[in-house]
Amino acid sequence: MPYIVTSECLLCGACISGCDSDAITEGETQAIIDVEICIECGTCKSNCPSDAIIFENED
Ligand code: SF4
Ligand code: SF4
Repeated sequence: MPYIVTSECLLCGACISGCDSDAITEGETQAIIDVEICIECGTCKSNCPSDAIIFENED
């Protein structure tokens, strides 16, 4: 469960358009990262203006 979108998301779309792997879609209240597609490049985290994307280790 590495890169995760939190409730800080404003649905600005920056992460969606910036994801080269098309791993992010727009949910009802926030963006959603498909962990099966995500290659963990970290671009979305850098692009997010509200620091809504966090990296979480699986443990
Ligand atoms: S870490 Fe990279 S591949 Fe994964 S959702 Fe973010 S921009 Fe897309
Ligand atoms: S860049 Fe951040 S605020 Fe914008 S849609 Fe993505 S997660 Fe939400």
